[in-house]
Amino acid sequence: MSDMMYFDHAATTPVHPRVIEAMTPYLTQVFGNPSSVHGAGRQARQALERARDQIAAFMDADPQSLIFTSGGTEADNMAIIGGAMAQAERGRHIITSQIEHHAVLHACEYLERNGFEVTYLPVDETGMVQLSDLKQAVREDTVLVSIMYGNNEVGTIQPIEEIGAFLRERGIIFHTDAVQAFGVLPVQVRQLPVDMLSVSAHKINGPKGVGALYLAKKIPISPIAHGGSQERKRRAGTENLAGIVGFAEATKVVAEEAEERISKYKQMRAAMLGVWQEEGIRYHVNGHPEQVLPHILNVSFLGVHTETMLMNLDLVQIAAASGSACTSGSLELSHVLQAMHLGDEIENSAIRFSFGITNTVEEARLAAHSVAKIARRLARDR
Ligand SMILES: *Cc1c(COP(=O)(O)O)cnc(C)c1O
Repeated sequence: MSDMMYFDHAATTPVHPRVIEAMTPYLTQVFGNPSSVHGAGRQARQALERARDQIAAFMDADPQSLIFTSGGTEADNMAIIGGAMAQAERGRHIITSQIEHHAVLHACEYLERNGFEVTYLPVDETGMVQLSDLKQAVREDTVLVSIMYGNNEVGTIQPIEEIGAFLRERGIIFHTDAVQAFGVLPVQVRQLPVDMLSVSAHKINGPKGVGALYLAKKIPISPIAHGGSQERKRRAGTENLAGIVGFAEATKVVAEEAEERISKYKQMRAAMLGVWQEEGIRYHVNGHPEQVLPHILNVSFLGVHTETMLMNLDLVQIAAASGSACTSGSLELSHVLQAMHLGDEIENSAIRFSFGITNTVEEARLAAHSVAKIARRLARDR
């Protein structure tokens, strides 16, 4: 593992040592159930609420508006299914985009099988949703719109401020999946025209299996998990206390290091592109040239099939991806690249490099040279 060059942080990140340290007491000494009324329970409850306050402060939200979940997927499902169910009397039309994470797309498909209609907005060749398309799609019975903040495959940042402002005027509830943007862009909910926003801990060096849905006051949702009255009756189930404490610590580390991280990611990006340019590799950068998450670099090496490149990279211990973790492993083409209509050659040769805190610029340069060597050999061998 030590020699591996890991460039797949959009799939998941290693847990920060400070996060592990913060979590440990809640797996050992402070093991109470936050719902118990005795001392052990009260201690756990205090830790839970302290973590909620910290995460809320980090995203400029009212602590009571955060619902802890088992991750980004559950937060997305809660927003879309729970939001749609709560509003079904008013209307049964939902709008999303073709480039959403499967947690959003498959939740929408579930709703389609249950009496809702869904419009999937197209994107342009940079992977961006157009406000004009949204305006055209909105109907009298539209009750919910879900457009992601930053895309996990190509990094394109969506115009969520314009989208949100338009939807506010129309009184339509707006959810955004901010899982990739969170931690690299300043996600401050009081300044954003959003009603619901999903985040996940393991994409920001927190533990896997914990996330949150920000739910603005007065926005109705129907719970999707039923049982106890945790999370103000909005999400039943004993809270993942250690995970939540770890999540809070991860946001504290981000708050201290965000600027430094972002400038490093930009340097890594530039270093890799610089190497490929120098070496005369035929490549195409996928995603928006400026409105892009700094930690995601999606590149097609023309003439080299994605799976072949990934296998060859794996042989030299470089971990990259074809897009979302859920589609790699199967030979399925990326739904995001397909929605961008870039043509077969670009679509079937795309590789995603995603940067994280343990990467160095030198490592990125080294990896880029390996990639160049492989690309040249494979393009010649064809
Ligand atoms: C990773 C990811 C998710 C899913 O989050 P989990 O915590 O892994 O369930 C949802 N949306 C986006 C954009 C992601 O990158």
